[in-house]
Amino acid sequence: MSDIWVLGAGQLGAMLQHAAMPLALKVNTVDIHATDLPDLNHADIITVELEHWPETAVTALLSTHPNFLNRNSLKIFADRRLQKELLDSLSLPHANWQPVDIDMTARRLHHTLGNKVLLKRRSGGYDGKGQLWLNGEQEDEIPEQWINNCIAEEEVRFDEEVSLIGARNTQGNCVFYPLTANLHYQGILLASVSPIRSLQKMQSDAEQMLSSLMNHLEYVGVMAMECFQVGNRLYINEIAPRVHNSGHWTQAGASVSQFEMHLRAVAEIPLVQPVIKNSSVMLNALGMDYNKRWHAIAGAEVYWYGKDVRPMRKLGHINFSLPDKSRTAESLNQLKTLLDDYYADAINWCISHL
Ligand code: AMP
Repeated sequence: MSDIWVLGAGQLGAMLQHAAMPLALKVNTVDIHATDLPDLNHADIITVELEHWPETAVTALLSTHPNFLNRNSLKIFADRRLQKELLDSLSLPHANWQPVDIDMTARRLHHTLGNKVLLKRRSGGYDGKGQLWLNGEQEDEIPEQWINNCIAEEEVRFDEEVSLIGARNTQGNCVFYPLTANLHYQGILLASVSPIRSLQKMQSDAEQMLSSLMNHLEYVGVMAMECFQVGNRLYINEIAPRVHNSGHWTQAGASVSQFEMHLRAVAEIPLVQPVIKNSSVMLNALGMDYNKRWHAIAGAEVYWYGKDVRPMRKLGHINFSLPDKSRTAESLNQLKTLLDDYYADAINWCISHL
């Protein structure tokens, strides 16, 4: 059988490997800076855990393999401007935006996009990095190093941040998980809850949006669509052409996790609509040490990535998917006592969304 190679060797690749075992698939992750080049066979399949990477010997080798999946889509999603142009061309709802070329001024941006304008780097920005607000003050200017390197977006006053995880296979079959509500802290995902009754009415719109994108691109694998919810409408914030942090709850709360779904799609194993077990919660462990006491909490399913501890770095996550919401709340309240103070609000947010 062909091997699957993942460009990137972070936690997403590791969790793809973990999901591969019951399918008897062989998944190898590849560090983008590796100097030992992998020995790829012609029939192997190459997928990714990230959408932009530096040109190194190993990324050049993987990305030019004939079975490197989604080559064209990855080019688009690595550049916010191309991504925005694609969403425009498909008439998919997203925040009003403007390219920031050499002749653009802050004044013109405010004129078209409003008082508050968010500059976002075209590439390399993630977890809220690579962003700059222009607040509409007299002295507003677009910093020189941002010209040609960013897009500008209007401020969206959203009710909630939500995401949809879907998958498509080579026959064009698509499956979706229920919409997920996401809470961010300093631009970084802190918690997710799914499914949520109040989001059900937007599920079919969301699925149509993501399937039109995946079908247009003839995409294969899992794709995540991050949106702003404003009333009953969804506006796409960004697309991740890969498994996504806001889908980690599926490891506990769905019959097929997003990691297994991605592998099924790329290895031509039948896709199936995932059966959702319970109301699930995922909490990211940011910049903290591993604590064995988490395992003593009923229902806690801990994933620890074994990375060096750095402030606000994603180091692991904890899933809960218990049949009884009051037991989930009880467990979350126990967890609260073992986490930094800023988790208290996040845990209250999770409990209020159960
Ligand atoms: P991003 O890196 O694009 O996911 O943005 C990080 C966070 O910045 C998002 O999760 C939002 O909380 C916020 N954000 C991004 N774009 C906008 C926008 N146009 N209006 C308001 N908040 C935004």
